[in-house]
Amino acid sequence: MASEHDSVLHSWCVQSQWQAPTVVGGSGAHLQLADGRRILDMSSLAECSNLGHQHPAVVEAIRRQAEQLCFVTSAWGAQPRAELAEAILEKAGFDGGRVFFTLAGADANENAVKFARQASGKPHGSIVTRDRSYHGASYACMALSGDARTRAQVDPAAFGVVHVPPPYAYQGAFGSHDPSICGERAVEAVAAAIDHHGAANVAAVMMEPNAGTNGIVAPDNYWPGLRAATETRQVALIADEVMSGFGRCGEWFAWQRYGDAGKPDLMTLAKGLTGAHLPLGAVVLSAEIAARLEHQMLYTGLTYCGHPLSCAAGLAALRAYEQEKLIERSRTLGHHMFNELQAMQSRHAVIGDVRGGHGLFAVIELVADRATRQPLSAWPKTPDTLNALVNAAMSEGVSLACRGNLILLAPPLVIDEQDLADALALLDRLLAHFFPSGL
Ligand code: PLP
Repeated sequence: MASEHDSVLHSWCVQSQWQAPTVVGGSGAHLQLADGRRILDMSSLAECSNLGHQHPAVVEAIRRQAEQLCFVTSAWGAQPRAELAEAILEKAGFDGGRVFFTLAGADANENAVKFARQASGKPHGSIVTRDRSYHGASYACMALSGDARTRAQVDPAAFGVVHVPPPYAYQGAFGSHDPSICGERAVEAVAAAIDHHGAANVAAVMMEPNAGTNGIVAPDNYWPGLRAATETRQVALIADEVMSGFGRCGEWFAWQRYGDAGKPDLMTLAKGLTGAHLPLGAVVLSAEIAARLEHQMLYTGLTYCGHPLSCAAGLAALRAYEQEKLIERSRTLGHHMFNELQAMQSRHAVIGDVRGGHGLFAVIELVADRATRQPLSAWPKTPDTLNALVNAAMSEGVSLACRGNLILLAPPLVIDEQDLADALALLDRLLAHFFPSGL
């Protein structure tokens, strides 16, 4: 069997260190490896396979669409594209809005910035984003991201990006461990950044509404606070729902937890949009932003934007979320997973914080000292012991995702309840083994 080892330039790794198993199939929350092992996927791969692997209805929709029409450019209409756009607008409650289809999350975010600038008449307007955020690995998205690793490779100022600190209450951002105080001050920091540059020079604030891959879950008052602060200043609010959308945070879209008080002007989607069965992203524009663009030329779009096969997959995915009640399931199982993790925290001194609880997304932050909250290793390095724990889990048939000191749990929303319980029990056991100084 061919191996990628010597021929593929791999993303997000040092080439000489690349070693990963080859996946040959999948079903539900499990992946099938070439060496015969069956692995429970506790991160939905890149937090994207929300529907599990090889969802039969999505696979069938792709097959049917392929037989009928594989491709037509976005210059021409296509039935699945129209139906998917309508379905997204309905789920988002964006009456009168429009959907612009892209290939993935990064180009959705870049286009959202273009639309915000064009619609506001601020072609050079700054974009406010957060330190430690991740918005994609294209050049402009590396500038938008506050991820230390990608940001160091570009000049954010050249893209008009202004970074503000995230509401990282656990580590005492803005001088407070109290989530509500931290959230309030973090909103004030965004407002101050806008005021400092002048609202006329700021086109948008772009942020992940709940959590991103950085594992910093925003306090409850943060997102509604941002909405209010941007609205009064007439600056567009862009919700990057690439990771948090499609049930991951217990709602279709994470901002919906706050109702209209959290409704953004634009939101970007990818990942769960097709459950990762095919590449697809989207920018969803409010009626007001869409109306402002109605008579303007849009100089944007890639050849494969809104590919009919991907749109057919997206439509089938949306139906599956609905028919299988996966948004509700995510909320219920997510609540249960969060409680279990909190119980684990009471047994393992290494767990400093457990965040999440809204849907099947939770983060465990590991610390060297609970009293001082000293991180196990300096961000973004992953401690060797944590890598060893992840490897041990893999050899027991469970794939866990970690970033820095964080373990991110984001299993497919279709995960079997017993599989979830078994994976959490394994994590409990491995924490005791690798970090034995319990409480
Ligand atoms: N935005 C967020 C919040 C993400 O988590 C990601 C990917 O992890 C992206 C954007 C980029 O999406 P893509 O990899 O599809 O370009």
